[in-house]
Amino acid sequence: MRKEPFTKKSSVYADAMQTFHRAADLIALTPRVRLELEEPDFEHIFYLTLELRDRLVPVPEDHPEASRFLDLPASSVKAGEALEPLANGDFVLHQQALLNADITCREGVIRIPGRGLFRMVRGKPRKFKAYRIQHNQVRGPYKGGIRYHKDVSLDLFKTLAADMTWKTAIVDIPFGGAKGGVRIDPQAYSREELEHLTLRYMYKLKNLMGPFLDIPAPDVNTNPEIMAMMMRQYTDGERLHHALHGVVTGKDVRIGGSEGRFKATGQGIVYCIEEWARDKGFDLRGARVLVQGFGNVGSAAAEILHGLGALIVAVNDAHGTIHADEGIDIPALLHYVHENPENLRKTVLGFPDAPGISRSDFWKLDADIAIPAGLGCEIDGNVAEVLKVKLVVEGANGPTTPEGDRVLAARQIDVIPDVIANAGGVTVSYYEWLQNQRMEHWTEQEVNSRLERAIKSNLAIIRDVARDVPNKTPVHDSRRYCIGKRIDMRTAAMVLALRRIEAHYLLEGFSQ
Ligand code: NAD
Repeated sequence: MRKEPFTKKSSVYADAMQTFHRAADLIALTPRVRLELEEPDFEHIFYLTLELRDRLVPVPEDHPEASRFLDLPASSVKAGEALEPLANGDFVLHQQALLNADITCREGVIRIPGRGLFRMVRGKPRKFKAYRIQHNQVRGPYKGGIRYHKDVSLDLFKTLAADMTWKTAIVDIPFGGAKGGVRIDPQAYSREELEHLTLRYMYKLKNLMGPFLDIPAPDVNTNPEIMAMMMRQYTDGERLHHALHGVVTGKDVRIGGSEGRFKATGQGIVYCIEEWARDKGFDLRGARVLVQGFGNVGSAAAEILHGLGALIVAVNDAHGTIHADEGIDIPALLHYVHENPENLRKTVLGFPDAPGISRSDFWKLDADIAIPAGLGCEIDGNVAEVLKVKLVVEGANGPTTPEGDRVLAARQIDVIPDVIANAGGVTVSYYEWLQNQRMEHWTEQEVNSRLERAIKSNLAIIRDVARDVPNKTPVHDSRRYCIGKRIDMRTAAMVLALRRIEAHYLLEGFSQ
């Protein structure tokens, strides 16, 4: 029998590392440094168990079972927060659910007025797969976000952890790279269940975390509330707990978070766009912008750009796309998505003044700038082929596939790569950590002026490397990094990262 020829399995990690290898070849990276960076320092994979509460799961009207319950009287549950609605349509029953309730239950099914039939499902323990990948710490403590998502994997977290190593080097902050999280669809769990999951996650990782060891932050589906829980779990029972607040960043400003951190990633994106516009002589007032993802990153970028006079003409998220050719009212959209308790999925869909369009039409719209700020691998070859914009600014991590990159380059669409475009978050995380160590609290203006300098000066270095024009100005110096030929922006950013990381190995040597 003929054997299939061996083909190396492609993966997100292998794809992402193409840029690493290209840059490493170009600068003849020291072979041992290449080996150190090729794979993470540590891959922690573990399991979390959780006791789930009882639930009410919808029985669809057209389900054959539903016809047997046509005459089932309605139940009424009066206790305040007895039933917690979840974005997936279930209700979680809290302990006081039956207080003052008037319930008629037949074969485990009840009817809730205005909502339909629900089957009671008994809570039981469940197991979740969890990860923390610590990629590299030669420049400082491991640093990177925590993601709760149903599609995470070792391969993805390795990619995101390595991205953090490059990113912290590119904005020149003394941190390394890490990433982690849990494979879970958080929209299907109650606030209390997610709290237990978060506490359990930190409990299991406690020995591997610390303000000088590994510092988590928010990422997809995690937020300042989750960071507060992590900090509490880490510091609980510690005599010097106040000295440990730097164990997580992205905290609420009232408990040691930094002014400006919440919007920092979006703000960094806008600093990149401003620098690009200045360089090109492009007026941002009236510029037409597409935003994918309206979570922390996408909504902050949209809000700040809207404030600068740009028009956000369409927004796409996990549930749909909205479009308004004259520009969407972003303050109203922020309210609709983030401050509306009825909008459980936190989606832009259904926003009154902007009709829905298809996802494929979203990318084809007439616009100047696209900001993918949802998940990875969204701009593939096909999307890159139909985009009409002049600039793609990568808010998300890894939103462009290698094929997408090739098409964008061929079509001469500029790209500001993720490792600088979305580095505002980790940069202000560093400022938060510094403020925690020094027990200080900086103003938003101070934070933003430092952030602006960090983003714009390092973007200027990357641009010089890409154009091969070594240059020194009062705010940046690219002479050490140019390689004697022109390269694309993504490779240039990696060159900058690798040169800065390599310096540590070359000057400090390797521990034996
Ligand atoms: P978030 O959970 O606050 O929001 C995610 C948004 O993306 C939501 O609007 C969601 O509906 C949307 N989305 C999810 N899947 C999608 C899909 N398939 N298509 C279109 N939209 C989709 O997350 P976030 O913190 O805003 O992170 C967004 C991206 O930015 C991620 O790639 C994350 O790794 C990256 N990032 C975040 C930070 C940060 O500080 N939060 C920093 C750097 C990079």
